[in-house]
This record gives sequence, structure tokens and C-alpha cells, in this order.
Amino acid sequence: MSELKVFDAMQRDQYEQVVFFHDKPTGLKGITVIHNTVLGPALGGTRLWNYKTEEEALVDCLRLARGMTFKSASAGLNLGGGKSVLIGDAATIKSEAYFRALGRFVQSLNGRYITAEDVNTSTKDMSYVAMETDHVVGLEGKSGNPSPVTALGVFNGVKAGLFKRFGESDISRHTFAVQGAGQTGYFLIGYLLEAGARKVYFAELNPGYIRRMAEEHPQVELVQPDDIYGLDVDVFCPCALGGVLNEHTIPRIKSPIIAGSANNVLLDEAADGWRIKERGIIHCPDFVINAGGLINVYHEIQGYVRERALADTNKIYDRLLDIFRIADEQDIPAQEAARVYAMQRIEAVQQVRRNYIPR
Ligand code: NAD
Repeated sequence: MSELKVFDAMQRDQYEQVVFFHDKPTGLKGITVIHNTVLGPALGGTRLWNYKTEEEALVDCLRLARGMTFKSASAGLNLGGGKSVLIGDAATIKSEAYFRALGRFVQSLNGRYITAEDVNTSTKDMSYVAMETDHVVGLEGKSGNPSPVTALGVFNGVKAGLFKRFGESDISRHTFAVQGAGQTGYFLIGYLLEAGARKVYFAELNPGYIRRMAEEHPQVELVQPDDIYGLDVDVFCPCALGGVLNEHTIPRIKSPIIAGSANNVLLDEAADGWRIKERGIIHCPDFVINAGGLINVYHEIQGYVRERALADTNKIYDRLLDIFRIADEQDIPAQEAARVYAMQRIEAVQQVRRNYIPR
């Protein structure tokens, strides 16, 4: 990508800063993108990937950083959006020195960007990053595994969807189909059962996870992966991969509510958002409903208190009701309404900060 195109992209979607960094001795080669810091420091994980081209890495980093702006803003956090990508082979390139070199570049941004683990980077890797910078979260022994908290947020989203559709959110009166019983789906099923769900179905590809469900919750019924879309249930919970809601699957969905953890669940965000709306299905936008893990890690910056992190995660319920209201008022898909909601918050806070007040 030529320099001109980078600036075009920055101008079009209002990116603040794009930083390229390189450390020859360790082979570290990466990009940090800071999209927006109106609400606070830009937070986003560091992804290590064997990108085929520099352009591919940059495009991914730009997209992910912008996504974090909307996610943090709609989660009510005082955080902006950012992301780092590292170009390299995760199987061979990792070392203590590699991640300490990364930590030094993170530190050089002086707190404008906070990093965390992401695809192909771990809490152990981040412990090396933390040796060189204060601006890293998701460390061992701090906020812990984010997945149960993400699932708690999804559980709240399920309840918001039920309230919107049925005027009550009593889990015990309803039926559910969960796609994927991995890190988040497993905990979501646990919350649903605890609340007395009338019936839960699940689909899973991993035999170990299928066995775990059969042993722990034999009442949860396994269905074939392709059958999960057409089940006659109240809520479909996609908790597996992105892109599963598309022109082929949306027409097959019988449930009046979609609420799950999967990121980028709409294959084509605009077109599939409208497809869902036109079918009259209530959709809890992915980056709002799955923000529990982010909310949890954010509390590390505040000084981690579990109860406070969980209480903030429960607010996803009210937030979704606000987003459904915007969707109704503006007659737009919920996914789009979530972006409106996030932008409204960013713009409102920007206005608040227009005068100089010493602290
Ligand atoms: P995971 O890999 O632990 O679980 C996903 C499960 O889905 C796997 O067990 C996999 O076998 C299964 N699966 C894949 N394709 C399937 C299919 N077609 N049918 C049935 N099962 C299928 O991942 P996770 O951490 O639970 O994350 C799930 C989604 O939630 C991802 O999109 C992730 O980005 C998103 N998410 C996760 C978190 C978190 O805290 N873990 C936070 C935010 C978003």
C-alpha cells in the first residue's frame, strides 16, 4: 500500500495514528494503529499472524482498531480503539526478547495505547511485554480468564432480547440453541441451565467438548452442526465462528432472537443486518453483547475488583435495550444502531471536554 493510500484510509475513517516498528535482533516487525482516543487510551490486543503482505497486515490492523473504538464506546468504557499486529510465524518467532522489544515500543507511545493478548499471543507473552511497559492488561493473576465474563454478558444480552420480544426475560419459560460449546458457549449454557432454561440444544465439532457436555449436563441435547440454524427455539446463540449469519443461514433461522458471543457474526455487516431486520428477528449486535471480556480486563486498569467487573458486565442488558430503541426510532438494523449508540457517546464526551479545566 502506498503512503497516499494509508493517509486516504486514515482520513476516511478518522484514524489518529499509525505506527510501524521493527527490531532487527529479535525479528519483531509490527504495526500499531490508534483509531480514536476521545474516550481514553486506545486498548486492543496484539495479534501475531503470518500475513502474506504488509498491506494485508495493515488492513487487518486498521479494521480491528476501528472495531475496538465502537466496542469500548458502546461498553461504556473510558477507552479508545487500537490494535497491534505482528508479522511473523508464531511457531518459530516467539521469545522473551521478542515480546520485551514489543513492550518497549508500546511504552514509547506513553500510554496512548494499551495492549493485551490476542490471536497467537498469550498471557505468558504479555508477562514479558509487562517487563518493559506499564501499558498492558490481561496479565496472569489479575483479571483472569475473560470467557466466563464474556458469557455473562451474552447471558444478559439473551435476557434483553427476550424482554424486547416477549416483554419478560424469564429464562425458565424459554428454549435455546447454542452453536459452539467452547470457551464462551460452555459457560453460557451453564448460566442458562442455572436459570432453569426450559430446553437447551447445542452443536459442537470438538469431540472433547461434546463429551464434557454429555458428562456435566446430559439434558443439553446435541444436534448436527447444520441443524442448529433451523431449530424451533426462542433464542439462537452463535458462539462459534464469525460469518455464520449470511444469505444462506438467515432465511433458515426460526428463532425470533439472535444473541451470541461470536465476533463478526454477520458475513456482510450491512446486507445481513438488513436481512435479519426484514425477517423481524431481534439481533443483539456482536460487539455489544460480547464485551464482557473487555469490560473485565478494563477493570485491571482501575484496580481489579471482581464484583465491580461483573456489575459492569450486567449493564449490557440495559445497553441493548437502548440500542433496540435507537433501531426502532431510526428504522435501522440493530448492528447499525449499535454504531450510532457508540458514536453518540464519543461525540457527547468530546463536547463535554471542549473547555479547559485543570485537575
Ligand atoms: P472457542 O474456540 O473456545 O469455542 C468455539 C467453539 O465453536 C469451538 O469449540 C468449536 O469447535 C466450535 N465450532 C466451530 N465451528 C462450529 C460449527 N460450525 N458448529 C458448531 N460448533 C462449532 O472460542 P470462544 O472463546 O468461545 O469464542 C467464540 C466466539 O466468541 C469467537 O467468535 C470469539 O471471537 C468470540 N469472543 C470470545 C470472547 C472470549 O472471551 N472468549 C470474547 C469476545 C468474543
